[in-house]
Amino acid sequence: MIKRLTMIFLALAVPFGVFGSIPRWTYPIPANLLENRNGNLTLVNRQTPLDSGFEPNNLVSLAGLRSVSGPHSLRKEAAAALQELFTAAQEEGHQLYVKSSYRSFGTQETMYYNRMDKYGRDDGVVAFPGSSDHQTGLGVDVLNLEWANQDGMRPEFGNTPEARWMEANCAEFGFIIRYLPEKQDITGIIYEPWHLRYVGLEVARYIMEKRLSLEEFDQEVKQEILDYEASGGDFFALCAQLNALPPPREMPETDEAGDNEVSIFYKP
Ligand SMILES: [Zn+2]
Repeated sequence: MIKRLTMIFLALAVPFGVFGSIPRWTYPIPANLLENRNGNLTLVNRQTPLDSGFEPNNLVSLAGLRSVSGPHSLRKEAAAALQELFTAAQEEGHQLYVKSSYRSFGTQETMYYNRMDKYGRDDGVVAFPGSSDHQTGLGVDVLNLEWANQDGMRPEFGNTPEARWMEANCAEFGFIIRYLPEKQDITGIIYEPWHLRYVGLEVARYIMEKRLSLEEFDQEVKQEILDYEASGGDFFALCAQLNALPPPREMPETDEAGDNEVSIFYKP
């Protein structure tokens, strides 16, 4: 009995750093959620663009949602979350419309150079190819009917009940307002009350509560990891511990469902 208790204690103590060899992870979000394995936290801007060949995985159609153009698609998890957000908004009397969603590098490139041809310069309205949040498959522009039918989008949309509802509630569905009004100097993008970006529930709650830009959050997390490693921790070892599931059952290498390891551990 004593031996068993000792073993349980050891099993719990080592990962949680009771012996002082592994520093405690004190950041409010668990380390393994910050590992960005699924790409939900990928930061895209002019300084850190995606390459031309980048294509998000698991894109699904948003055909079930009201929209003013299309066809529209987002990554699966973001699409499901947006569906829930639309339903919740509807229940509170707000009709939302998708105006723009996933855009490929090629589409962005066409839009950018069309704009350049029209105005003779980069006026900052259309993001440089590779630097658009829409290329992640996690960014989506959502408006009310009146604004969705207009040609341009302007920050004044932020004064509408729909925009206010989205800002107050988006985090509960895993979305952030990617371009907040007070962060223009950091993001390089004007206030876009219509641009929702999926990051997942816990991170969205944290970001919206602290009103951070994704740039600031990214910086904060990088610093946190550096500090953790400077004090003797191993971030990826910690993530591996947190990701570890109970020992899997003995199974053949593959079964009719395909590769067990992939289907068990990396379910999209
Ligand atoms: Zn947008």
